[in-house]
Amino acid sequence: MLRALLLAAPGAGKGTQGTRLAARYGVPHLATGDMLRAHVADQTELGREAQVYMDRGELVPDDLVVRLAVGRIGAPGAAAGFVLDGFPRTLAQAVNAYEWAKTRDRMFHAVIVLDVPETELVARLVERGRIAGRSDDTEDTIRNRLAVYRAETQPLMDFYDARQILFALDGTGTIDEVASRIEDALVGRGLAPLG
Ligand code: ADP
Repeated sequence: MLRALLLAAPGAGKGTQGTRLAARYGVPHLATGDMLRAHVADQTELGREAQVYMDRGELVPDDLVVRLAVGRIGAPGAAAGFVLDGFPRTLAQAVNAYEWAKTRDRMFHAVIVLDVPETELVARLVERGRIAGRSDDTEDTIRNRLAVYRAETQPLMDFYDARQILFALDGTGTIDEVASRIEDALVGRGLAPLG
């Protein structure tokens, strides 16, 4: 049983750790970006609505994302829990999800923040951009994306810290090292993995 949220800057290894963590606890890894892209691909009404914002690089409106995310974390497939990725992303989404969870006995156990120094994030993203030939991964745009991330995330961290479920962990080192740091923190809260 694990209901967790992962928060990490671009380049901090959120996808990798999210997938591993979900497998370790036998719960689905739920990424709102993936869910939204699936709706866009299927041309659902929600997908058509969301696409306008996504194409502009803007956040999709809170009510739409909350509807989507809550539908998934409340579904039978998430009965044993979930690892959320990309939601909540705004304070309004966090408050909504919190109110929803409170009345249904589905409160989050842990919000895991992976801390990686900005110099290392920039180095990783510049390298990634070089390999992929992505022109938007220049050092300036990367620094800007990181600043946006910090501004977006701080209110969420404050919200979860006040509810004593925030774990800020060192996100540097090997994939295994980071994974065991996360697991140790959760086990310390009585959240045991499978096996
Ligand atoms: P990125 O980290 O680059 O934003 P994601 O895959 O997490 O990539 O999300 C892709 C897009 O989906 C975002 O740019 C945004 O438009 C939308 N999106 C995903 N999650 C949320 C959310 N919680 N609230 C609002 N919009 C979201």
